[in-house]
Amino acid sequence: MLTVAGQQLYAQLARQGIQDRRVLQAIASLPREQFVDEAMAHKAWENSALPIGYGQTISQPYIVARMTEVLLVNRPERVLEVGTGSGFQTAVLAQLASHVYTIERIKGLRYQARRRLQRLDLHNVSARHGDGWEGWPSKAPFDAILVTAAARETPRALLTQLVDGGRMVIPVGQLQQSLWLYERRGDEFLRTELEAVKFVPLVQGELE
Ligand code: SAH
Repeated sequence: MLTVAGQQLYAQLARQGIQDRRVLQAIASLPREQFVDEAMAHKAWENSALPIGYGQTISQPYIVARMTEVLLVNRPERVLEVGTGSGFQTAVLAQLASHVYTIERIKGLRYQARRRLQRLDLHNVSARHGDGWEGWPSKAPFDAILVTAAARETPRALLTQLVDGGRMVIPVGQLQQSLWLYERRGDEFLRTELEAVKFVPLVQGELE
């Protein structure tokens, strides 16, 4: 059962071209107001990005839906997310994959996200404080990797942590950013540009 706000978001995302019903359902069924600061709760259901503290943002629902739909085409089981942020995208993935590994470089955000996920009984998530630029080598390989911050260039380490046939979705660029899909075929990677996006930067090598 969806709330009225959930039904509206579901319909809006479907109108914007999101077709996978599992993705629509996973997004619309989450209590989005729990993922933003209390002062922002009245705006939580707008189809926009919102501040979550520490200079970071929760992504717009449309972009969460788009990235998830592209990423999950092959029904991946083990998914790595770089940039936990609010945990909203993590909670979407946790409903659709067997296990989600997620990395966040800001300790406070990782802590808050973990609490939210526990409250929603999403226990198939491993969350770590660290630099996602290096991926999570000890848990690799992954069927799918989703990066939710914009990289200057695609981190090599992440590509090597994909299974053969695996997919990675990542925003790349600085002032001008594009969302890219990588598909691994043995030692080769097919690259497809999806659309223009605007993400906070993927920071390399320092933790907060
Ligand atoms: N998926 C999030 C979006 C958060 S914004 C959501 O749904 O809310 C991107 C996040 O990436 C920020 O929280 C930022 O701190 C984090 N980030 C940036 N560089 C990172 C890095 N190298 N490793 C891990 N996390 C990083």
